[in-house]
Amino acid sequence: MTAPGEIIHTGAAEYPGLDRWRELPLKQQPDWRGHPDFQSAYGELSTNPPLVFAGEVDKLKNRLAQVAEGKAFLLQGGDCAETFDDVTADKISAKVKTILQMAVVLTYGAALPVVKMGRMAGQYAKPRSSDMETRGDITLPSFRGEIVNGFDFTEEARIPDPKRMVRAYHNSAATLNLIRAFTEGGFADLRAVQQWNKGFMENPAHAKYEQIAGEIDRAVQFMQACGADFESLKRTEFYAAHEALLLDYERALTRIDSRTGQPYVTSGHFVWIGERTRDLDGAHVDYLSRVRNPLGVKLGPTTKPETALELIEKLDPEREPGRLTFISRMGAANIREKLPPLVEAVRDSGAKVVWVTDPMHGNTITAKNGYKTRRFDDVMDEVRGFFEVHQAAGTYPGGLHVEMTGDDVAECLGGSDVIDESAFDGRYESLVDPRLNHKQSLEMAFLVAESLTK
Ligand code: PEP
Ligand code: MN
Repeated sequence: MTAPGEIIHTGAAEYPGLDRWRELPLKQQPDWRGHPDFQSAYGELSTNPPLVFAGEVDKLKNRLAQVAEGKAFLLQGGDCAETFDDVTADKISAKVKTILQMAVVLTYGAALPVVKMGRMAGQYAKPRSSDMETRGDITLPSFRGEIVNGFDFTEEARIPDPKRMVRAYHNSAATLNLIRAFTEGGFADLRAVQQWNKGFMENPAHAKYEQIAGEIDRAVQFMQACGADFESLKRTEFYAAHEALLLDYERALTRIDSRTGQPYVTSGHFVWIGERTRDLDGAHVDYLSRVRNPLGVKLGPTTKPETALELIEKLDPEREPGRLTFISRMGAANIREKLPPLVEAVRDSGAKVVWVTDPMHGNTITAKNGYKTRRFDDVMDEVRGFFEVHQAAGTYPGGLHVEMTGDDVAECLGGSDVIDESAFDGRYESLVDPRLNHKQSLEMAFLVAESLTK
């Protein structure tokens, strides 16, 4: 018999220590354990098939080990928060297409393989600065992403609903299915991607990238003339990543791999811990230390070098190649001052992590007309700062982590085909943070490639 109010966690895979997080300080979760649908939603997720296979997760870890060695580059991109309505063929293909286009340009610029990863197929949970939101005289729970509650400012929408975790699972499955179909089925053909990039170049605003675009084109023609095996270039690996914020979801989707007997989060290949939940003694760090996936941790401007070292100790005690990625998000104004002590401390400790720049989250401003936005120039300045810091420290700048979309939205200011504040009213779609649109994303890739080939 279960006593009233007692929580039983049915069905989730058992492994020593996997429930330790329940006794630790746990931030940014909805209060829904007593909800009448919690147990059935949790139980359903616990028995559903995994979204990713542990063998793929291990393969990704090997790819990231190459990045840590300076032999590959990592590109992570996608929405701040995915939405259920945007699980459509058009939206998903536009995002995948944009990431593939960026990857081709970066591959040329870095002359290295690019590991491609979407903030996709699971990026549904959001941390918030406050538990409650007040408008006028009404106060309701904050929107925590569609895996928890609805965006509309009504009591009905804002009450956390555990059944949403099941919807998020099925939407992630549908998204991943289409990503796999695209990237395995010929959509990723290098020649097609090159054709799309020619479309970008037809815009006179992008004429300044003509030289590098021409070089890439000639490189593709050269490969073709040499009889390169384009069959193998029709497919590409593409990995799914999200913030492992909602621990009920992550715990229910954890499985013990039959090959190795080890636990894996099977909600995505790569998961990261956000800036607000990376407390050393908190639930998130403990839980993720116990699963075998490659992990990311966001590091903001208040991070101390000792904290970075302790995070390595907790999350990668074996110093496993590819296990840990630090995603710095300092802000353009801070990066040249705040990143060096972290990079140097990690370098001097002998640990090898992947260093990635998130040039979005430290550069958020509020536009005069009230929209949350970011300036393209600030974003690019942080990217440049990231490369400078690593060059000075003799360490490897391993990749980019960006909030972007494949659509022609107007959420970030600037770019060569300029977006200004007046465009926000019609074309601002993000429910949370502003994303680079299709053109701004490609422009970033060209700028990075240009600086890498100089
Ligand atoms: C995010 O990646 O959307 C996010 C919330 O980032 P951070 O944890 O760095 O603030
Ligand atoms: Mn965000």
